[in-house]
Amino acid sequence: MLFKCVILESGTSAKKQNANPTFEVPPSGRILDKTQNAKRRFSFDSNTMIVKTDSIPPAISADSNEKSWAVVGGGMLGLTLALRMAKQGHKVTLIEAAPSLGGLAAVWNLGDVTWDKHYHVTLLSDDRLRHMIDELGLSEKMKWVETKTGFYTGGKFYSMSDTREFLAFPPLNLIEKLRLGGTIFLASKIKNWKRLEKLSVEKWLRRWSGNSVFEKIWEPLLKCKLGEAYRKTAASFIWAHTSRMYKARRTGLKKEMFGYVEGGYRTIIESIEAQLRELGVEIMTSSPTQKIEKQTDGRFQVDFKGHDSRHFDRVIMTTPNAILSRVCPDLSADEKAKFDSVEYLGIICASLLLKKPLSVYYVTNLTDDWVPMTAVIEMTTIVDTEEFDGNSLVYLPKYIPAEHSMFERTDADIKEDFLAALERMYEGFTRDDVLAFEMSRVRNVMAIPTIGYSESLPSQKSSVDGLYVVNSSYILKGNLNVNETITIAEDAMKRVLKEDLASTARN
Ligand SMILES: Cc1cc2nc3c(=O)[nH]c(=O)nc-3n(C[C@H](O)[C@H](O)[C@H](O)COP(=O)(O)OP(=O)(O)OC[C@H]3O[C@@H](n4cnc5c(N)ncnc54)[C@H](O)[C@@H]3O)c2cc1C
Repeated sequence: MLFKCVILESGTSAKKQNANPTFEVPPSGRILDKTQNAKRRFSFDSNTMIVKTDSIPPAISADSNEKSWAVVGGGMLGLTLALRMAKQGHKVTLIEAAPSLGGLAAVWNLGDVTWDKHYHVTLLSDDRLRHMIDELGLSEKMKWVETKTGFYTGGKFYSMSDTREFLAFPPLNLIEKLRLGGTIFLASKIKNWKRLEKLSVEKWLRRWSGNSVFEKIWEPLLKCKLGEAYRKTAASFIWAHTSRMYKARRTGLKKEMFGYVEGGYRTIIESIEAQLRELGVEIMTSSPTQKIEKQTDGRFQVDFKGHDSRHFDRVIMTTPNAILSRVCPDLSADEKAKFDSVEYLGIICASLLLKKPLSVYYVTNLTDDWVPMTAVIEMTTIVDTEEFDGNSLVYLPKYIPAEHSMFERTDADIKEDFLAALERMYEGFTRDDVLAFEMSRVRNVMAIPTIGYSESLPSQKSSVDGLYVVNSSYILKGNLNVNETITIAEDAMKRVLKEDLASTARN
């Protein structure tokens, strides 16, 4: 098919008729602009062709002496790094232990439905992620929905979705509400987060909200998010959390708006994967990296379980810290000790496909001690039920330290506890409503920001020349989310990797 169109700025549209130059449109999503020797992504409906202006570097020549980079870990961080580096023209191999890409943002099957293994939403203030979505040509698939937040406390549900409901929240008296609101406002105004890293979150919240608010609201919420680890967590944790939510509301009419891309993270990951392949990135899945050692020729030998070893000039580790000491024996004793000292929070997260919804809340925070999970997340309060064949998708997360004994319990045991809790909490819920139930277990989800955390992290440029560690444990100014993950990857390219990238770029 032959179209004529005008190239405008990235993401702008041009009428198919009366335009110039001419492009031949292949069945896939790329066109070759012969005038500039660049490929451009496009999409179109009946009237409009949307043309993206990113260009593709020249193909890798077999005899080039360019340096090879291995990016270990195919989660959003590794995917971002591989994409950014390949766009700059580097020769990249992306290595992932699992059979498919995505890491914590990967998808799985729940009955006949394919959706994110862990619940994911985008905030209006997630600028890096939104830029990536735009760059992938997926902005038109982005949906924004106003959401409601619930609280389950003392055996009752309360809506806490706006200021009016906040002020009507019965478990707190007026003074307590003012102190709670004041603390959130104060946290949102703090610029020097490093100061907060020196104080425990408990001490800081008790100081500003008072003991009663701490015990009624903050402590149960912190326990939900961090388990007993909240006792050693720095106040910067609550600052990061509240300022992200506050910023999101500021950008959107003071309402809580959450977004998702049609098809969930599958759409995003498949789109990045397609781009990586087009850019010539080699993708190795089902390749758990077992050892990375520097050889006498200065290159790295990477050993895999079940594959032959490979050699690379540079290696970037994006995996959690837990495996670094074992996989990278050349790291110094000091680096190993520092990586090993970072404590991780893990998760057990059940996904349920239900015949009917449980409630109107996206998140229901659970503060009663007896409830075995952290929260109830009802995805279908945001995502169109058509994505789930008209059914309701609910997640039941339980955040626990990586070493917690709950990881030893069987899925059947945990399922029994979770379903019994739902029966007790929701009048209309019965086990017959459950069409599918799957359980995810991840020990190393998020590095716990302990007191003085940022001071104890080793440099991302390790003591082994050419070996870098760029993972989510370097998120200092925010809690774990994809926006921060992308930020870590992009900032590392501009700072720690910059010099090395410049010297290894293709000529
Ligand atoms: C329950 C839950 C809810 C979340 N909700 C949201 C949300 O609503 N919004 C949001 O923005 N973010 C959310 N997040 C956070 C988001 O998922 C993360 O920020 C992001 O996915 C982290 O990406 P990563 O690449 O740093 O880590 P990971 O996704 O953990 O990637 C690391 C990768 O390394 C691989 N790996 C490990 N060991 C090896 C090895 N030896 N060899 C090769 N590969 C290896 C792993 O398999 C994995 O794929 C949520 C996370 C969870 C768990």
